[in-house]
Amino acid sequence: MPGLNVIDCSLAAVYRLVSFYLLLSFGTLLLGGSAQAMAQAENSSNQAPATTGPKSAETDKLAEVNVLLARADLDIQKSQYEQALKSLTSAYQITGTMEDASVGRNVLNSMANVYYNIGQYEPAERYYRELVSLDEADNNLLSLSVSLFNLGHVNASQKQFQVAETNFNRSLALSRKLADSDGAAHSLKALGVNAHAQDELEGAGNYLEQALQAFQKNQNHNEAAVVHRHLGDVEEARGNLRAAVRHYEEALPVLTQHASSLSLQRTYRGLSGVYEQLHDYKNALISYRTYALLLNQEQQQKSLETTQRMLAEFETERFSDDNERLEMQNQRQKLELKHRSDLLQMQYLAIFLSVGIIILVATMWWRSRNHAQLMLEHATTDELTGLSNRRAILRFGSNEWERSERFNRPFTCLIFDIDHFKSINDTWGHAAGDQVLKILSATLLTTLRTTDALGRFGGEEFLLFATETEPYQAGVLAERIRQKVEATVYMDIPELKVTVSIGIAQKKSESSLDQLIHHADQALYAAKEGGRNQIIVYGED
Ligand code: GH3
Ligand code: MG
Ligand code: MG
Repeated sequence: MPGLNVIDCSLAAVYRLVSFYLLLSFGTLLLGGSAQAMAQAENSSNQAPATTGPKSAETDKLAEVNVLLARADLDIQKSQYEQALKSLTSAYQITGTMEDASVGRNVLNSMANVYYNIGQYEPAERYYRELVSLDEADNNLLSLSVSLFNLGHVNASQKQFQVAETNFNRSLALSRKLADSDGAAHSLKALGVNAHAQDELEGAGNYLEQALQAFQKNQNHNEAAVVHRHLGDVEEARGNLRAAVRHYEEALPVLTQHASSLSLQRTYRGLSGVYEQLHDYKNALISYRTYALLLNQEQQQKSLETTQRMLAEFETERFSDDNERLEMQNQRQKLELKHRSDLLQMQYLAIFLSVGIIILVATMWWRSRNHAQLMLEHATTDELTGLSNRRAILRFGSNEWERSERFNRPFTCLIFDIDHFKSINDTWGHAAGDQVLKILSATLLTTLRTTDALGRFGGEEFLLFATETEPYQAGVLAERIRQKVEATVYMDIPELKVTVSIGIAQKKSESSLDQLIHHADQALYAAKEGGRNQIIVYGED
């Protein structure tokens, strides 16, 4: 079994060391195996492109298993076995669903190793047995010899030395069959240590001597030195003290080169005991001091490793706590952001709605104002002439009447009526009559002051209120109107001559606007009677 490390073995504690050996040797095997399995998976998927679906599912599983194995390997290196077991258990479950059962070998190996390391021999044994069955089914003899060898160590740790012996022997037979001399040497050494544990000193000596020769033949000096150390222990137990010293002295130079080796520690302890029995107290003391020093170093190393492991666990936990806290903070911030954005959206909506409502109200107000204006215009304007209608002119008159009453100001009312308008209608048509009314109204407006108010009183009759107008001024105004009407030329009917008769009433003794209008009307009547196209002032005829 090339690449396997020394198993230092004398008493129960010795088996602890095996865990390191198992771990190291199978760590290499594990990685190699994984890579091999990956390559196999890749090859098989390359070879059969027609069945990419299921094959790629297998490849995915294999990749996942390899990731879990690598993760477990890292945890094992950091002595975080619980963590490692979690990854391995997941990987084990995946391999259970895979077509290629051999993929599970690496996982089983790692699980068994970890359980062995943490002293849980029962599951370790179970997984190694499973591995043995797998190797037997595959007829993988090299792997089987290793699995049996490891299973033997677990058996020995469980004090099942007979079972252990059987497994070591099977492993030995396989190694010999495969001409694996180093593997055979390891099995012989394990058998020797196992026999020693059962106080079968002669048998132990025989196995170890054979192992020693095999290692020496293979130039495996380290293992040879370790076997020397075991032989020292066995010889010491048999009372062959000089022989024991010889073996220990043989082991020392090689083992010293590996200062961390537990074997070196055991060698010095053995030497110290043997020298003591030989009454060589000086060498006994020197050996014991070296042993104590190495033990102390080992303890310090262990304590350092424990501290580092605990620190790593603490860091991991703190990291996960920090992560959790950050995650919560992140969630809170996300919620807050969402809340703010919702609020902002609501604000936008509210602003949008408010603006919409304002625009709507403004539009409605503007339209209703226009409508009201239109209504007012309709209510106060004469449609045909555009002058104030009867109601509007009478309201104006009423207001002005009040004002002139209050301030005792002059106020004049003029009524004029188109002469013989009926005959215009009859001669030129009603539309021509309308045209006359329109042109005449526009002409009249140009002759008025802004303070004067002109309105259509009815038919072809007009009412004019002149404020702040003295009697003679009213006469002048009326004459101007009369002349202007008489001079107006109607383009469509050039021969048409239109005249008006005007009645004027100057506010004097009248008690109401109605009375004033009535007086103006009487004056108009007089003007008509007098032959038309003339002006009559009430009370002056
Ligand atoms: P007089 O000189 O006495 O005032 O005679 P006249 O024909 O003007 O008076 P009369 O009261 O006999 O006739 C008025 C006519 O005015 C009758 C009516 O058909 C016409 N008239 C009233 N309003 C309108 C109008 O809006 N358009 C037109 N084309 N004719 C109108
Ligand atoms: Mg009339
Ligand atoms: Mg008339």
